[in-house]
Amino acid sequence: MNVVLKRILVGFGVVVFLLVVFGFTMLPSLVDQKLNAVRKYPPYEITSNTEEAYKAIPFVADLHADTLLWPRDLLKLQIRGHVDVPRLIKANVALQVFSMVTKSPLGQNINKTDGNKFDQITPLVFFQGWPRPTWSSLLQRALFQAKKLNDVAQKSDGILRILRTRADLQRYVKERKIRPKVTAGLLALEGAHALEGKLSNLDVLFKAGVRMIGIAHFFDNRMAGSAHGLQKGGLTSLGKRLLLRMEALNILVDLAHLSPKAIDGVLSMARRPVVVSHTGVQGTCPNARNLSDQQIKKIAKNGGLVGVGLWEEAVCGKDVMATAKAMRYVADLVGVQHVALGSDFDGTITAPFDVRGLPFLVEALQSLKFKKAEIHQIMGGNVLRLLMKTLPIR
Ligand SMILES: [Zn+2]
Repeated sequence: MNVVLKRILVGFGVVVFLLVVFGFTMLPSLVDQKLNAVRKYPPYEITSNTEEAYKAIPFVADLHADTLLWPRDLLKLQIRGHVDVPRLIKANVALQVFSMVTKSPLGQNINKTDGNKFDQITPLVFFQGWPRPTWSSLLQRALFQAKKLNDVAQKSDGILRILRTRADLQRYVKERKIRPKVTAGLLALEGAHALEGKLSNLDVLFKAGVRMIGIAHFFDNRMAGSAHGLQKGGLTSLGKRLLLRMEALNILVDLAHLSPKAIDGVLSMARRPVVVSHTGVQGTCPNARNLSDQQIKKIAKNGGLVGVGLWEEAVCGKDVMATAKAMRYVADLVGVQHVALGSDFDGTITAPFDVRGLPFLVEALQSLKFKKAEIHQIMGGNVLRLLMKTLPIR
């Protein structure tokens, strides 16, 4: 081998080595930091009046955060991203729904997303050092995230509870009155593609603690069309069987990201209330991912909840007032008992603040003339009521 060729090969080897080291040590956290940004970092200047109004909320709940996807020790207070256990405690959050994302095709967007494009979650889990089965299996990715949350709960010394049943929830609400510095998580799945086409995997996920499932995410799958898919079809026959099985197991159906046809399909079949875990509404922000008035009315009739998000694409505004206005719109249309918070924290959004900024939302709701009891409903009372009715009894 001549000397020049040898040098080139050595140089190439060094570059590859450095890239691999960078990938494993820094890449996932850099991606996390960049994609889960905030417009304003703490300390948050919250007036004492707002602080008081916020602290008076008996049960703060958020219907959607994608925190489990990211490289964070959830028991440690972090700077990047939006949610971890210390921040949930600081923000007096009683319940955070932790949703598990398993696939995100390259070029994903709210109008037209091709589910066959390169999946960006693959390098993310690879470079985070997730176990081998998660590199290729979407089900394993979900199960690994479920295990991650369970492990955090176990190591948390009772500070983080995982709610699986109505009995858990009742016990937790009682205990929280005596020990307020605790929080709870409920496991959800973002997209039934993680079932890998097998209904039997629903039982596997249920056993792992999953209690809410969004049937589609950004692309059409074998169960239903996505609002952002290529075909945007309705519920397939497999999707209909999934819905029946979910209802039998007491798993909540989440309509977020579903195509209008699939939303209609679910609402015409559902015998239990549904949720839209994170969304905006056409009335204040018309786009392909948001709910029409007609859809909101049907969801209200079903007894369901509309979880309004905290990001610009959902509410057509960069600050929290846009979220409050969308909540006002839903409340005026169908009643405050159907309004909830579905932040989409850690869902690759730029949020106005991390979870500790939630008092600003209360301030915005007050300025839109919501009464104290109504704010308590929106900030979590409605979620608590729904879960008391819908979680498996024990
Ligand atoms: Zn989402």
